[in-house]
Amino acid sequence: MDNEEKICTYCEKNIAEFYCDKCGEPTCEDCLVPYDQFNLIEGCICQSCYELDQLCRANEYQREEKENEEREKKKEKRNAKARARYNSPEQKEKRKKKKEKREQAEIEYRKKLLLKLSKIVNDMFR
Ligand SMILES: [Zn+2]
Ligand SMILES: [Zn+2]
Repeated sequence: MDNEEKICTYCEKNIAEFYCDKCGEPTCEDCLVPYDQFNLIEGCICQSCYELDQLCRANEYQREEKENEEREKKKEKRNAKARARYNSPEQKEKRKKKKEKREQAEIEYRKKLLLKLSKIVNDMFR
């Protein structure tokens, strides 16, 4: 057993009672980051590892933000293009023609149906 007391690597004055889980350096209680519900630290993490970790997270966050922004911009561009296409006179005309065609077909169908029915009725009373 090694009973020699180690001095904290970070403050260099307190006796180290812990080892940082990340860098493995002997660390005193003062130089460990205490656990709280926000940092969600598991085990022993020294200040410098914690700061590094936070920095990584901040960078990660920034990167994600940027990616989201770019994605939004692209989406907006696509939407604008689609809207412009949808509102173009040719497309409006096309939609109008389609609608008229649909309505025309409906009228034809009803006419045929009526004709059929009247034939049946005529046959019944002949
Ligand atoms: Zn210390
Ligand atoms: Zn560390």
